[in-house]
Formats: sequence, structure tokens, C-alpha cells
Amino acid sequence: MTSLRLHNTMSGRLEQFVPIEPGHVRMYTCGPTVHDYSHIGNFRTFLFEDLLRRVLLQQGYRVTQVMNLTDVEDRIIKKSAEHGQTIDEFTEPYIEAFFQDLDTLRIQRAEHYPRATQHIFEMVSLIERLTENGHTYVADGSTYFRISSFPRYGALAHLDVSGLKAGARVDVDEYGKDDPRDFVLWKARKPGEQSWETPLGTGRPGWHIECSAMSMQYLGETLDIHAGGVDLIFPHHEDEIAQSEGATGKTFARYWLHAQHLQDATGEKMSKRLRNFSTVRDLLAEGYTPRAIRYALLTGAHYRSPLAFSPELLKAADSAVKRLDEFAVRLGSVAADAEAPADIRGRWDEALKDDLNLPAAVGHLFEFIKAFNPRLESGKATAAERAAAMAMLRHANLILDVIEFPGAVDAEVERLIAEREAARERRDFGRADEIRKQLLAMGIQLDDTKDGPRWKRIR
Ligand code: AMP
Ligand code: ZN
Repeated sequence: MTSLRLHNTMSGRLEQFVPIEPGHVRMYTCGPTVHDYSHIGNFRTFLFEDLLRRVLLQQGYRVTQVMNLTDVEDRIIKKSAEHGQTIDEFTEPYIEAFFQDLDTLRIQRAEHYPRATQHIFEMVSLIERLTENGHTYVADGSTYFRISSFPRYGALAHLDVSGLKAGARVDVDEYGKDDPRDFVLWKARKPGEQSWETPLGTGRPGWHIECSAMSMQYLGETLDIHAGGVDLIFPHHEDEIAQSEGATGKTFARYWLHAQHLQDATGEKMSKRLRNFSTVRDLLAEGYTPRAIRYALLTGAHYRSPLAFSPELLKAADSAVKRLDEFAVRLGSVAADAEAPADIRGRWDEALKDDLNLPAAVGHLFEFIKAFNPRLESGKATAAERAAAMAMLRHANLILDVIEFPGAVDAEVERLIAEREAARERRDFGRADEIRKQLLAMGIQLDDTKDGPRWKRIR
């Protein structure tokens, strides 16, 4: 048995994973900026983090995961002002939509979802610590981090900062790798912007400080794992390291994991700015199932390789999920207490321990199914073999979470219908309608007859 190996962006190598506290993993995952609906590129990264979380749990670790909600930054400030709304009024629907999409994609919930606007005080204290340690200066009422005071700056992104212009500074939340400059920790208030009165003056935090403040508050000064998409390596994660280590003098995070981007068909990063994105909602409206979307984003490529998004990818995912469903149906009813065959289970587990190589694991699973099918068709598979194959499917599904085992759908449909009836009784027609739509997305059509609701499969 080998142990889990993960690729650490800091060292550029695969490393054996060992948490600080035996048996317990503390992990911080940068969350959505809630200025709009998250797109499926964002969800590729959140699904990679779901994979990481599930593999850690399966390895027997307790996991404490924190995912922040960025609810104050340049775009949110601008858009909420344009809408004449407070930040909270503006972001609330997107926060709600984010959690709905997590559920749609069966992404396991983190232990904590702290919001930036609810941790202003902690950010201010952290900035004060940085000032005590000589890492900050004030210009035009804003407080900046002086990167020349932090010699390790650039270590994560492997940047050469020797030609750096001392004192050159940047105020915007996002900026390029070619031009590292002193970055803003606290921004002085501009007319019309929502602001907070603090010992640093009236203003608002820069984007980067929230993750340092909230991760250390919930997880302690040294985290085991810090994860996000590759676009966050610079400047966001580099700045997080400077802010955290500049205050504590301790290593901030021991393993840095980064997922590559989801791209459009032409190889461009999917992004709001380029308008080449789809949301989970768009794809559901086009008739794709939540399971196909989950499977495509999780298994389409290893997390450290870019993945090109296309209708073909979703169609292939849809048919792979159907093949898994059909295999489960063909195995029939079997004993529930069997163990998966050691050979295939070993290959599956080894692939996942090798830097979360789910595409390889799934390849092994389909080879197993392909080899097993003829025995099933010819009736040669014994009841014990069928039960062992089913145990393997269940084992794989702890990670994949896409297979519908026979009987499970009916039970879920019945549960949802009962919930809808209860909603209708208390005249909560909004919720009742939502459930009807959820059933439709599952391929179930509901008809209200005089004898009560009836359902049928339409796909
Ligand atoms: P944001 O909501 O923009 O703050 O991003 C949330 C997460 O999505 C971050 O971890 C980003 O690195 C990640 N992300 C943004 N665009 C993509 C993309 N096209 N593919 C994969 N991850 C992305
Ligand atoms: Zn962050």
C-alpha cells in the first residue's frame, strides 16, 4: 500500500502527503466571487476540490475545509452601486444560487463558508500586525504591503522580483504577473462606495487580505492544504503568503494545489470577461443532466491538465454514466455485504493516490466492466462475483457520485413528491414549483391527477 501523493506548486514536485495533526486535514479552498452566477469553469475547480476532499475522507482523514465567499471586491462594489443596492442585497441571490449549484453537482459541503464582509475586523487586526512587523506603508489614505520587505515574495509563482521598482504600487484587485508591485491591503473610501470605519481609516479591504485572515481564523496559522485554480497562483496566493507569513513568521500552507482551467473549444480560458462561458443553469436548460455535467468536469482530464469544453464532452459523459447505470442494473439484486475484487479496487485506489488521477481510475473501472460483461451475458458470473462487482461500483461511486443504483431513483422521486405535497399544503407554491423543475431535470414528469400526483420517465 502506497500513501497519497499530491503535486505541490511550491516545490513543483509530487510529494507524499502528511498532515500536521495525525488523522486531521485542515484545508482552505478559495471560493466564488459572488458578483454573478459561477460558471462551469469555476465549478471545474470546485469539483477538483470535491475530489480532493472525498479522497482524503476515504483515506480515513477527518477534514476541516473552509471556502470563503468573496462578497466585497472591485466588481461587486461597482455593480451594487450601479444597482443602487447594498452589497448584501446585491450578492444574496448569487450566494443562494451558488449553494443550489453545489447541490446540483453533488459537491460535498465544506465545514465553513465565511463571508469577507463579516470578517472586516479580523482583516484589520491582521493588517495591524503587518504594520507592527514593518511590512506596510500608507499612501493617499490606503495601506499597502511593501513587497521588498518580504524576501520570499515570488516563491510560489517562481517569479524573479530582482528588477522590482520599490514603491511602485497597485490598487486594483487583479493584476498581471509581469508587473509585481506593492499591493493594497486597505483602500481608502471613494465617493459612493460602501465602506467601513476602522482604525485604518474609512474604507474597505483589498481582495487578498480576506483569505489570509479567514483561513488563519478557522484553521490556525499553518494550513495543511491550500487549493484553487491556477489563475490564483499570482498574484492572489503569492499575496496571501506575504500577508500571512509577514504577520506570523510561520509557514502559511504546506501543500499548494492548483487546478488547470476549463477552456472553450478554441483553447481560451472560460471566463466572464471573454463571455465564453456557460453556467450550470444554462446546461440544465439545454437538457444535460447534473450527473453528466459532474462526470464531464471531474473525469474529462486530470486536474492539472487543461480541459476543453464541448457538447461532445458532455455527450460522452452522459453515455459513460448510462453505461455505469446499466451495469448496475445488469448485476441485479445481490448481497450488500460483499467486498470489491482486490485487483480492480487496488488499481482504482492506486490511481487516486497518485495525485488524484481519476481519469486513470475510471479507465481501470471501464476495463473491468468490459471484461466482466461477457460473463454476465453468458450467465457464467456467480452470485458472489456479481456482488463483488457491485461492491466495486459502490466503492467507485463514493468518489464519482453519479451512478443511479436500481431502486434508488424511485425512492428519491417518492421523497421529492412527498416534499412537494407538503409544500403545496402549506401554500409554498414557489418551493413546489422548484421541486417539479428538479424532477424534470432528473427526467421525471409529474402530472397532478384527481387521485394525486403521478410520475413517469420522459428520458
Ligand atoms: P472566482 O469566482 O472568479 O473568484 O473564481 C472561483 C474559482 O474558480 C477560483 O479557484 C478560480 O481559480 C477558478 N476558475 C476561474 N476560471 C476558471 C476556469 N476557466 N477553469 C477552472 N477554474 C477556474
Ligand atoms: Zn483566496
